[in-house]
Amino acid sequence: CFIFKHLTNFDMATLTTRYPETKNYIAGKFVSGQSLRTMDVITPLTGEVISTVTLSGQADLDAAVEAAKAAYPAWSAMPVKERVQVFFRYKTLLERDLMDLARLVSEENGKTMDEARAEVEKSIELTEFACSMPQLLSGELLEVSKGVECRIEHKPLGVVASIAPFNFPHMVPHWTIPNALALGNCMILKPSEQVPVSSVRIAEMLKEAGLPDGVFNVVNGDREIVEAICDHPDIQAVSFVGSTKIAKVVYRRATSNLKRCTALGGAKNHLIVMPDAHPEMTATNVAASMSGCAGQRCMAASAMVAVGQMDEMVSKICDEARKIVPGKNLGSVISKAAKERIEKYITEAENVGAKVLVDGRNCVVEGFESGYYVGPTVIDYVTPDMAIAREEVFGPVLAIIRAKNLDEAIHIENNSNYGNAASVFTQSGGVARQVMERASAGMIGINVGVPVPREPFSFGGWNESKFGVNDITGKSSIEFWTQLKKTTVKWNPESRTNWMS
Ligand code: NAD
Repeated sequence: CFIFKHLTNFDMATLTTRYPETKNYIAGKFVSGQSLRTMDVITPLTGEVISTVTLSGQADLDAAVEAAKAAYPAWSAMPVKERVQVFFRYKTLLERDLMDLARLVSEENGKTMDEARAEVEKSIELTEFACSMPQLLSGELLEVSKGVECRIEHKPLGVVASIAPFNFPHMVPHWTIPNALALGNCMILKPSEQVPVSSVRIAEMLKEAGLPDGVFNVVNGDREIVEAICDHPDIQAVSFVGSTKIAKVVYRRATSNLKRCTALGGAKNHLIVMPDAHPEMTATNVAASMSGCAGQRCMAASAMVAVGQMDEMVSKICDEARKIVPGKNLGSVISKAAKERIEKYITEAENVGAKVLVDGRNCVVEGFESGYYVGPTVIDYVTPDMAIAREEVFGPVLAIIRAKNLDEAIHIENNSNYGNAASVFTQSGGVARQVMERASAGMIGINVGVPVPREPFSFGGWNESKFGVNDITGKSSIEFWTQLKKTTVKWNPESRTNWMS
């Protein structure tokens, strides 16, 4: 049993706040759910209750959709150059409140203050992208025959919905809110019921930035409200981020109701380390990738494929992992259930012959004994058939799989059901090129442990890490949140007429 004594107030938001009941936000007002069902919101840093959240039902969703429908005609008719003014102002508000927002993210999610701050900074970058929408939207126009022109415009869809997971309470909602709204849609956000408080601040700050009431609404809840969103006849598109199991349910249900849907799922990201990899850079990057946000990132390296003789590299990675200290530079996992699930994966791997080199089980942080902490864990001699090699663990755990050569390493990566990210650490351009070509993943890293594309490049995986055509951010999201209107115009009565005009 490890007791870590390094906690300081600067590392995590350790002085937890008690927040009022987390209500829905409909037509510019915070309102309790009509269903009267509520749930406790628990900070995983200490295990304390910090708020309660409304678990909404059909009547709450109906009210939010009505508010969004009422706001839609005026909002969608506003020129995009006017709509983005809200987001220019919103960006400065995010910058003003950066540290307060980070503290809240750390409190409700359990990540460190540094990680929470980086999360809010990413929300700012996503907002900046939406501010450039007028430049990105300038359309196509061509004189197609004498006196006749065709043009294409991106038109909004109407009322849309965004469903978010627990691991980025502030950033993931910003994958969808700024772009969908700047493009003229009105939105219902359904945050994770485990981390709903950040969305209160999002709503308050959008209102302060001048967003008209009803354009953005928050409906809290669990399975019941997600199913109601998928079934609602007046919601045109559903964006989902969460586990693969639920992504499949949502994608099937939303599309069977003839809605557009992009559903991002879970991940098992492989990081291939070649014998020529730079030792220090590789060791620090691998350790940071597997442990950042306590391993609760869909872009975390959770399986390392070590090619050739790698004992020294593995030993360096273990040294780096030991520098990662729970309560200092490693936050908590989201819940008691998550801690138990992660520790069970480690024990099962050990039971089937893998070797636990750095063991994060039974981790307790002094003064925070009721928090949910798992220490950094490195497991060697994992084989591709083991559950820890195939399934998403979502904790600070690195499974090392040994491979003879690059072909075998790529084969292991290709066999995964998932396909969010794959990285290679090497000094060889030829090897890097092969991984770029042959890895079956949507986001590739060359000597990068967490290959999240920065704006304006879009975010989205392959295989069972994403269902639907578009990526969730960047230019690809413009296609998702809009439909094309094609207009053919002729004013000149003297033009000759043929079947083309
Ligand atoms: P989750 O699937 O449990 O929950 C996601 C959302 O679905 C939540 O809003 C939740 O209320 C709702 N939900 C839960 N159970 C439901 C059900 N039975 N029916 C309908 N809706 C339901 O995911 P999570 O635990 O909150 O988040 C972690 C998961 O999200 C991980 O698998 C992670 O990889 C994934 N994730 C993926 C990406 C990506 O970009 N691919 C990004 C972030 C997180």
